[in-house]
Amino acid sequence: MIRRGFQTELRWFLAWLFTSTLVGYLSGFFLLSLLVALCLYVLWIFRQIYSLESWILQARLRTPPDNDLRSIWGDIADDVMLMHTRHEKEKARLQTVVSRVQEMATALKDSVILVDKRGDIEWWNQAAEQLLGFQSVDRGHQITNLIRHPRFVHYFDKGNYKEPLALADLRRQYQQLEFHIHTFGQGDRLIVVRDVTRLYKLEQMRKDFVANVSHELRTPLTVIRGYVETLADTDDLPPRWSNALEQMQQQVQRMTGLINDLLTLSRLETDSRQTHSEKVQLTPLLNTIVDDARTVSGERNHTFTLSGSDRLALVGNERELRSALSNLVVNAVNYSPPATNIAIACETDSNGAAVVHIRDNGIGIDPRHIPRLTERFYRVDSGRSAASGGTGLGLAITKHVLYRHDAELRISSKPGKGSQFSCHFPARRVVIGDW
Ligand code: ADP
Repeated sequence: MIRRGFQTELRWFLAWLFTSTLVGYLSGFFLLSLLVALCLYVLWIFRQIYSLESWILQARLRTPPDNDLRSIWGDIADDVMLMHTRHEKEKARLQTVVSRVQEMATALKDSVILVDKRGDIEWWNQAAEQLLGFQSVDRGHQITNLIRHPRFVHYFDKGNYKEPLALADLRRQYQQLEFHIHTFGQGDRLIVVRDVTRLYKLEQMRKDFVANVSHELRTPLTVIRGYVETLADTDDLPPRWSNALEQMQQQVQRMTGLINDLLTLSRLETDSRQTHSEKVQLTPLLNTIVDDARTVSGERNHTFTLSGSDRLALVGNERELRSALSNLVVNAVNYSPPATNIAIACETDSNGAAVVHIRDNGIGIDPRHIPRLTERFYRVDSGRSAASGGTGLGLAITKHVLYRHDAELRISSKPGKGSQFSCHFPARRVVIGDW
């Protein structure tokens, strides 16, 4: 659709052309008259352009165009004015949004820092100034120059932000900070830093409490066990007493197992990540675990098959690895019917990583329980665990040990068919050699 301004312009031009042609025809100077008319028209256009430009430059689009601009030029000026007004409104709206976001970020107790793809700091909120001591001169500096902790630098550069990073504040050692990094845009990063000192202290108190209680209970329990065993060994006990003593012995044994497991767990939690590393050959280790499992199986007569290379060794702590793998093999015994087979297999893949599978043909586990199986005291059903004499801590210990060896526990199972527990060790923990 042709707009009115354009139509007016066209009409004017045609009328002007007609008039000049008529004047030229009557005066006998047809071409000259046409040339003069066209020159005047071009001059008029230049004047309009000049007025439009002056309006844009001088008034900066704040006041409406004056009446100099006619027809199509007036329309163009109105359009520019309209676009400008819309743009201003949008700018004001975005400004309000930005201000609201900044107010929100300021109100946050957590520190929020924006870092560009080169690692230079672009923006931070007020909490970051209090928690990390950022000042306005730090804008544009590399984040790793301001937070220099080697673990933060490694975490930031590595680019794997699936898990948060917990650190003791370098300036205030008592303070525990947790760093979450989120990537967005084209490599920009949003760093959220939380003060988790209170949670950390509570967690520490919980660990200390469990460790202390377990430790304190050990001595009285040893005394009780001693007396119960002595009494149980007495000849000619009335049957009522021997039954009671047998049950007491069983319960004391359960409590001892529980306390030992609790102490093992708290030691694994409090020790630094890897205390003692050695080359642990897998075949001899698994052989001793199978021998122990045969004793646990006793009259239930489970059979064991062990397969995999004799040349495989893991770099780690033998005692911890033995306890982790032994928990899995003993569980396989406890949760499988008598005379079934338990297969233990070690494999390596082309990347040099190793897996130890423990497969049984037992009662299996419903898939809905699998994600929670490694939680402390989580039991699929309390009846079956009580019957097996388990403490509910075995898989929690296994998971902790594997974590300390950079390894991972994967569980697959079918109820009624059997289960497979697989320990995946990364290549840096695997050694292959002739021993
Ligand atoms: P528990 O000392 O009770 O065995 P664990 O932490 O070792 O504790 O195991 C947690 C739960 O996982 C057990 O109570 C049991 O129900 C289930 N479970 C573990 N291993 C197996 C297995 N091989 N087959 C079936 N269920 C298992």
